[in-house]
Amino acid sequence: MSGIFSGLSKLGLYGIEGVEIFEKDEKNDFLEENARREQKKADKKKVVIDEMDTIYDKTYICPVCDIEFKSKTVMTGKAKLVSIDTDLRPRYQEVDCIKYDCVTCDNCGYSVLTRYFGSLSSSQIKSIKDNICDNFQGVEFGKNIYSYDDAITRYQLALANSIVKHAKNSERAYACLKLAWLYRGKAEHLDETEIDYDAWLEECKSEEKKYLANAYEGFKNAMQNEYFPICGMDEPTLIYLIADLARRNKDYETSAKLISQLIISKNTPTKVKERARDLKEIIRQEVKEGKSME
Ligand SMILES: [Zn+2]
Repeated sequence: MSGIFSGLSKLGLYGIEGVEIFEKDEKNDFLEENARREQKKADKKKVVIDEMDTIYDKTYICPVCDIEFKSKTVMTGKAKLVSIDTDLRPRYQEVDCIKYDCVTCDNCGYSVLTRYFGSLSSSQIKSIKDNICDNFQGVEFGKNIYSYDDAITRYQLALANSIVKHAKNSERAYACLKLAWLYRGKAEHLDETEIDYDAWLEECKSEEKKYLANAYEGFKNAMQNEYFPICGMDEPTLIYLIADLARRNKDYETSAKLISQLIISKNTPTKVKERARDLKEIIRQEVKEGKSME
């Protein structure tokens, strides 16, 4: 606006130079703010409806307490894959499918990643009964959709179950990886207008970090002691995943070593090789930035 009143300074009217010609219409501001808020509410509602359209209640018989229960599940082919994070976390358009990849009996507390549902020995069932079910006080999850907090509880229960039933390290590591993904998803969906936004974001980041560290340890161990496929992954894919987990845990040396191994090997599928090259570039950048900050 400068310049409009510049001629007035010679009249001694210096103070008016920075003044706006038109007064702000506070009523309009209020209406705009209200409209923005309403739009945000409508957007949120639409997201919930989109999510509800992709899921359904699947019925299971609990292998621990023998009671029928329902777990929400994403319908096959309903969610559109948009992109994949460097640690292979898939992102879908309508719904975060990770929230629904855990089966939980709300009657007794038996919980498990969907791919491992049902196959339990009698000693595992006894151990789950003694260590989980006997102390379980019941839990309620969202009626229409699972919130991130619902999903986190379900996966934490699955992780606890995997420990008491002495599951393989890969199963425990996979639960940790998915918990890290859930905290990342929760952080992405936090409401920036909330007063506690910064604190919530910080908590999500620190929880994600904790679970990524555990996933890294678990998968490294599984790699040495288990047969492939591990959690549905072939060897190059798991090596790639561990390379990225190493990077996310700032173990750049291990990460770089695994990446070279993948790039050199003839057995690495082209797609994994491409990802490995991308990861190599990310590490180069991170190390450079890290050095410049020292
Ligand atoms: Zn049960």
